[in-house]
Amino acid sequence: MKSHTQVVVIGGGVVGCSVLYHLTKLGWTDVVLVERSELTSGSSWHAAGGFHTLNGDPNVSQLQSYTVDLYKELEEISGQSCSLHLTGGVMLADTPERMDFLRLAQAKGRYLGMDLELISVSEAKKMFPILDEKYFIGALWDPIEGHLDPSGTTHAYAKAARINGAEIYRHTKVEEMVQTPEGTWDVITDKGTIRAEHVVNAGGLWARECGRMVGIELPVLAMEHMYLLTDEMPEVVAHNEATGKELIGVLDFGGEIYTRQEGKGMLLGTYEQNCRPWSPKETPWDFGHELLAPDLDRISPELEVGFEHFPALQNAGIKQIINGPFTFAPDGNPLVGPVRGLKNYWVACGVMAGFSQGGGVGLTLANWMIDGDPGYDIWGMDVARYGDWATLAYTNKKVQENYSRRFRIRFPNEELPAGRPHQTTPLYDKMLAQGAVMGDSWGLETPLWFAPDGEKAEDVVSFRRSNDFDAIGAECRAVRTGVGITEIANFAKYKITGAGAEDYLSYLMTNTMPKVGRIVLTPMLNEAGKLIGDFTIACASDETFYMFGSSQAEVYHMRWFEKHLPDDGSVAIEAINLGLVGLSIAGPRARDVLAKVAGADVSNDAFRFMDFREMDVANAPCKVNRISYTGDLGYEIWMTPEYERQVYTALMKAGAEFGIQNFGMRALLAMRLEKNFGTWFREFRPIYGPFEADLGRFVKLGKNNFIGQEAARREFEDGPKRSRVSFVIDALDADVMGDEPIWHENDVIGWITSGGYAHHVEKSLAQGYVPTEFSVKTDDGAFEIEILGERRKATLITDPLFDPKAERMRM
Ligand SMILES: Cc1cc2nc3c(=O)[nH]c(=O)nc-3n(C[C@H](O)[C@H](O)[C@H](O)COP(=O)(O)OP(=O)(O)OC[C@H]3O[C@@H](n4cnc5c(N)ncnc54)[C@H](O)[C@@H]3O)c2cc1C
Repeated sequence: MKSHTQVVVIGGGVVGCSVLYHLTKLGWTDVVLVERSELTSGSSWHAAGGFHTLNGDPNVSQLQSYTVDLYKELEEISGQSCSLHLTGGVMLADTPERMDFLRLAQAKGRYLGMDLELISVSEAKKMFPILDEKYFIGALWDPIEGHLDPSGTTHAYAKAARINGAEIYRHTKVEEMVQTPEGTWDVITDKGTIRAEHVVNAGGLWARECGRMVGIELPVLAMEHMYLLTDEMPEVVAHNEATGKELIGVLDFGGEIYTRQEGKGMLLGTYEQNCRPWSPKETPWDFGHELLAPDLDRISPELEVGFEHFPALQNAGIKQIINGPFTFAPDGNPLVGPVRGLKNYWVACGVMAGFSQGGGVGLTLANWMIDGDPGYDIWGMDVARYGDWATLAYTNKKVQENYSRRFRIRFPNEELPAGRPHQTTPLYDKMLAQGAVMGDSWGLETPLWFAPDGEKAEDVVSFRRSNDFDAIGAECRAVRTGVGITEIANFAKYKITGAGAEDYLSYLMTNTMPKVGRIVLTPMLNEAGKLIGDFTIACASDETFYMFGSSQAEVYHMRWFEKHLPDDGSVAIEAINLGLVGLSIAGPRARDVLAKVAGADVSNDAFRFMDFREMDVANAPCKVNRISYTGDLGYEIWMTPEYERQVYTALMKAGAEFGIQNFGMRALLAMRLEKNFGTWFREFRPIYGPFEADLGRFVKLGKNNFIGQEAARREFEDGPKRSRVSFVIDALDADVMGDEPIWHENDVIGWITSGGYAHHVEKSLAQGYVPTEFSVKTDDGAFEIEILGERRKATLITDPLFDPKAERMRM
């Protein structure tokens, strides 16, 4: 066993072996993998081996495609067969809503270049003869689906890695990890210690325990999962003989079942409602190559539906029932990347579909370790999307919810209830009492919209406009014609202090830093010149700045900020979290309201657009930004939580004479559309440059050196290849949700990032990206945007529909 190495990968499941292979493929060959037992000894050996490319997140879909394409390469390099069966598969719809879902999935696939096709049930039956047509109304065909041998595939990764120079130590258990003062790791195993520059936790079922060895609690939980294997079935044999083909894979949403051919019989698994976590607090170290006791009663409701939908199964003998555990993160996507605050400690865990996702996880993690960047937009898998708020108990509830909803539709306006309320602000009960429908903003309860008196404060979930439509319209109109108030506690807030604070921020950000009492908006870039943040920065004094950004990205951003902190102690950065909460008032009467309760002059001369002031509001010490995401005259007022009720009450009282009304996040997001404002993680993501995202005016190429400057300069000089644009859509009863294809004549030329109905201008709006040559075609009438399978006419607009001269913000 080596005593020194560049990387120790912990865990010889499919994920660890993929990470090992990709490190060697990309050039790091002094790498080892440590496995406490045999390879595949966690969940990998008993997987059903199914793979597919579709995922709710198109970026994850892309990486799933990569994984499937990789298997041929692996077989060639390793000489080890993965037993690939590329059968293709269908998703069966049993309701109109599910058909809408399939249409959406097909549309998303279009701009990713995926070859998905809506087919009839009878066409599906030709490829899967055991289905009973009467239960279904349509299907989506995906040719890139199939199954493989999980053990062979894991060994193929391992062999290919070994051929490239990696070493694998089996029957070697990591027991402790200690970071040395230089930042390397002593990985202490039962066979000796290895000093490594980097460690990767790919511990699968034991990922939590490998996290606890370094003092972190990863939000993963294992669930029991069952599938059945039948005896040989004559229907299967007959189909194979008649067509020379295997039965395809089938996903039956109604039965919450997946099924495919295995041998001459069938394999059938389910994500049952009566689901059960396995070892919720601690995974036993003596669990090995073993299965859990089958419990058919628990899955009998789903099996009954399956036996009705696929009647031939009723006559098939059950050869074996597999029950095994595997891990999930709260949202069901993997946890990948460097862990904030732990130098050179990486994770690749919570991978619930290792045979669809393992390749992409290995590739992006290896890119990240070697190049400092994952090379793809992997926000959907980044471990930094969870913070300390994702506790063991929260994770337990969310994972069970996610498991039992695996084959359920998540509607765009659907908020899931498990583990809520988790974090609340002091206004929570007041908001509920006024009819607020709350949403879960990464753990924090946030008002989405307010149901009028007498109406139920509850979303009716739908792909189309729903019961919140009129209420949100009224909220938007209240802001545009008078004044509205909303809670913005869910923004991330940071305090940056010290003699080096300005230089530090200026090195991280593309804009120049504000003078005392002023605010700037600024993107943040990575070295490749791609957007990794979008902030509002206010200067409170020469050595004190406040910064506001996306709450979901707080850990992601703190990881970056801390990585770039100078080590001379000249700068300190703190994520304030809920130490500051906020209210925003907006609309032409907003100043009148503030003036009644502010302890300072807030006239337009004394407190200009983009000014920052510390002042008393309703006797409470507040920090006030004169900006509003509504694009209207407005103020963001920040205070410590103990003052929030008092400030809110005073603002409501002061606003009564101007007809002040509550508004929620949905109205806020609708109003920013009519200003063409983009939003983080939709329009602004690490795949876009600042000029293509239309943020060029915030990039000061001539200022001091900043991260991403050269790449940004190249983007500017070469001209962006694609551009963020806005559309007015001739929509019917549904607006875009994001990820719809943009058609021009008969070609898909781009994709939608977000949109919705803009109530003040009374139009359905959307934003998205198109090749730059299309971004000026405002009058050619050839754009269409696909909404729920229907191509709707769209007109490209360059100026915001509301207040194009930006006078309202400055009034
Ligand atoms: C019944 C069932 C059916 C499934 N069907 C499918 C399917 O059809 N398609 C699909 O894609 N996925 C499927 N899965 C999920 C799939 O099995 C997992 O996604 C995959 O196995 C995860 O791999 P992993 O490498 O992350 O974890 P694991 O396979 O759990 O590997 C982790 C490894 O780390 C080792 N380890 C942990 N801690 C230490 C330590 N301290 N020192 C040394 N070694 C350590 C363990 O021994 C283990 O070998 C299924 C799972 C089950 C249970």
